[in-house]
Amino acid sequence: MPQLNFENVSMTYRAASGKTEALDSLDLQVEAGQAISIVGPSGCGKSTTLRLAAGLLQPTQGSVSYDGAPAEQPRQKTALILQDFGLLPWKTVLDNAALGLQIRGVARSERRQTAREALKTVGLSDFQTHFPNQLSGGMKQRLALARALALDVDTLLMDEPLSALDAMLREQLQDTLLEQWQRNGYTQVLVTHSIEEAVYLGQRIVIMQSRPGRVTAVVDNPEMGTPHHREQDAFFARCKQLRAIIAQHAEAAQAAATEEGGA
Ligand code: ADP
Ligand code: MG
Repeated sequence: MPQLNFENVSMTYRAASGKTEALDSLDLQVEAGQAISIVGPSGCGKSTTLRLAAGLLQPTQGSVSYDGAPAEQPRQKTALILQDFGLLPWKTVLDNAALGLQIRGVARSERRQTAREALKTVGLSDFQTHFPNQLSGGMKQRLALARALALDVDTLLMDEPLSALDAMLREQLQDTLLEQWQRNGYTQVLVTHSIEEAVYLGQRIVIMQSRPGRVTAVVDNPEMGTPHHREQDAFFARCKQLRAIIAQHAEAAQAAATEEGGA
């Protein structure tokens, strides 16, 4: 049984301005301990997919389940890291790292101890008494990761967590994410709009396209996690393969739109 299972999931948002079909018939199975990347253009339903996986949204059709049980509410063993990190500016780095544990009702001394360990893991030990606005973008990102690690989750969901960072820093943080996944063995779902990032951090890469959001292709990437992966031919070949798939579908979509317009 897959750990995380999307079966024929569709999501339509209803607002006063009308309906938006954000996801159409998504089928996706993620095994326990697997790392997958989801890549696709803006508006193709990536964030919707993560919110469904986190139990923050219910699908309008189909089902999302963990180990066979429906994901009907936020799950204790799942952490979701958002692009804006969700840090509280009036709390110290240590208290921000401990926030998830606080919400789960863990006693103060115990949660601080656990949060200290997590900060050490991500290299922020020297900044415990700082406040978020005293941190660089990369450090904020590490803090968000520490908060998730402190929870000892079995599933880590991340929505474009590195997109605000410059290229060099981004690679460092990608290394940190890879290292932590390898060390902790949690299931990981990373949403990104970077093909390189998807290839570096996904054993399987899900390519989505928009209007309505759906899966175009799923590509296996068995070389993920090998040392110096970024510098290897296999890495470049995989990026090229993804680009070709994306371009092919973009062309097909354009041809269909032209036909529709002409008809
Ligand atoms: P992505 O993360 O890939 O950019 P989203 O999942 O955020 O895509 O959005 C998919 C589609 O659903 C978009 O057209 C977006 O405008 C729409 N959408 C997302 N959230 C809402 C919402 N709360 N209400 C109405 N429409 C939404
Ligand atoms: Mg999004």
